[in-house]
Amino acid sequence: MTIDLRSDTVTKPSGGMLQAIMSAQTGDDVYKEDPTANELEKRVAEFFGMDEALFFPTGSMANQAAIKLHTQPGEQLICDKWAHVYNYEGGGVSFNSGVSCKLVDGDRGIITAQQVEAHINPPDFYHSPLTSLVCLENTTNKGGGACYDIAEIESIKEVCDAHNLGLHLDGARLMNAIVATGQDPKRYGDIFDTVTLCFSKGLGTPLGTVLAGQKELMKNAIRVRKILGGGMRQIGFMAAAGLYALDHNVERLADDHKKALEIANVLSHALYVRKVEPTETNIVIFYLTEGFSEKEFMENLEKKGIRISDMGQGKLRIVTHLDYTDAMHEQFLSVLKSLA
Ligand SMILES: *Cc1c(COP(=O)(O)O)cnc(C)c1O
Repeated sequence: MTIDLRSDTVTKPSGGMLQAIMSAQTGDDVYKEDPTANELEKRVAEFFGMDEALFFPTGSMANQAAIKLHTQPGEQLICDKWAHVYNYEGGGVSFNSGVSCKLVDGDRGIITAQQVEAHINPPDFYHSPLTSLVCLENTTNKGGGACYDIAEIESIKEVCDAHNLGLHLDGARLMNAIVATGQDPKRYGDIFDTVTLCFSKGLGTPLGTVLAGQKELMKNAIRVRKILGGGMRQIGFMAAAGLYALDHNVERLADDHKKALEIANVLSHALYVRKVEPTETNIVIFYLTEGFSEKEFMENLEKKGIRISDMGQGKLRIVTHLDYTDAMHEQFLSVLKSLA
């Protein structure tokens, strides 16, 4: 038995999800004639109380499209130094939109309204790029699944409004945040101009991210998606997996969070662990005690059929997900204890 905890993207569709995929009604989505894709888009827009939504093959493409919708070449966006849009989308911000990033030194990927305000270039100072967008991430990936306090997001929105900036949310794991905090998804729809929601992470589908937004901005989204090569044909098969996930895989995220917390607790008592980051959702980030090698530690686990990921700078990451069963959890915890 392999226990793969590298990411929540390693899951395979369940029997029920495969059934939903196989019985999906489809059509050509480039003509907007795929009833299941249309239904998923409508459902996500309603979930956030937003005007419109559009299905994308990946979260990166949905973020990149959103950035394009909000900006003009030469402008600048503000994001945390660990942001996915800056670190893990292949430099797409500059490649696709000709935009630079002003990085904020946040706390576990979370930034404050005060920091945002301090990073805005004065709009009449024409030597600097014009600041036009703020990108937040919830939960934070590199920040270890940390969740925003919605009051802080509201303060950031006030700063954005005062300075005429767009506000985009990279919500790859927004559903984890919503389940962990009990926040109302409609508040996200109220605050943000655009929001992404990934289906291929904790929700367990093979692919797909939906970008939701307000009408005026979304007018051009389908054209930008086409330009990026993201117009797909009978994508209803994957949208059906998304609808299935909304019906079956949301509340169960709490179980991933519980398992992650139990792993964090065991690690925090292990002599080979120097520090475990606070664990709020399904990601555990920890550091080995001085003198222990990450490479050796991971090889040791690998021999026992357990895979985790190395994020560099001594940072090790474990991500729980719906294919990580109770039996695997028992085994993994006992391996962690035995290493001690
Ligand atoms: C996974 C992820 C994405 C999207 O990644 P894709 O692999 O392109 O679907 C975006 N933002 C964050 C924070 C992520 O963790």
